[in-house]
Amino acid sequence: MKMYITAFIASIVISGGHYLTKVYPKRPVQTQTSLMNIWKKEFQEKYKIALQDIQKAFDISDQEMAKLAQTLQELQAKDPAFNKGILTKQSQWSHPDHPLTQLVVTLLKEHNLCADAIEITIDDTATAGPAAAFQRYNETTDEVTNVIVLNNAAMEVLAPETREAILRHEIQHIIHYDSLEEGFLRCILKTLGYTAQDWETHPSMVQFRHLKELRADQLSAVQSGGTTIAAMRLDLSSRSFQEESICHPAPAQRIAGLALVEEAFKKEITVA
Ligand SMILES: [Zn+2]
Repeated sequence: MKMYITAFIASIVISGGHYLTKVYPKRPVQTQTSLMNIWKKEFQEKYKIALQDIQKAFDISDQEMAKLAQTLQELQAKDPAFNKGILTKQSQWSHPDHPLTQLVVTLLKEHNLCADAIEITIDDTATAGPAAAFQRYNETTDEVTNVIVLNNAAMEVLAPETREAILRHEIQHIIHYDSLEEGFLRCILKTLGYTAQDWETHPSMVQFRHLKELRADQLSAVQSGGTTIAAMRLDLSSRSFQEESICHPAPAQRIAGLALVEEAFKKEITVA
């Protein structure tokens, strides 16, 4: 024991400032990366199951499901939003100098996305909520356009942390091609003879959408940590609509998901 203590003191003397960084970890980056890997993996598993449930419910062939996954992968591989070097078009931002556009651009860069390839529109009539993110697919050119729509009036009344948290959530929808994937799924279902009535409120589809929302919440929480989690939680608890919808889980469920991230952060920091 004595030897350990001596060695410990010696290590403080030798390493100096090093000791401090060990006790008060200055590098949340490492923690965040390992947490991100754990979280992504967990969602991948849940996602696989959710997709299988849809496949079973609507009797979609394995071949069709494999084709869907492959198509998404191929589209993303040639999407300039994910591949900085291949951008050919001018950036399409409705208000390039607007602070909201600038904030989105900063956050997109932080996520290694090419902001110039993403359409950023400020239009208060285009979305009821403060922000929305989706993909447009051009069948003729076989190209995807990622779109972020911002409602300035709805954004303006929010605290800066909430604004950022909401945008981070939307960016996760871009990263995962969430709307595009559902769009393609709908096309498959249509081809199989189903109508919107069959799938819109089907439990497997609702669960799938909810999972996308929880993933967007939690991955952005892991990505940016404490302030974002607190802002998201506050925003969710203040919403007038507290029930789940066919698109979104109940705010209480989303808050519970964020609490899991917070717990994990605490645990990781103690062992760091
Ligand atoms: Zn969302």
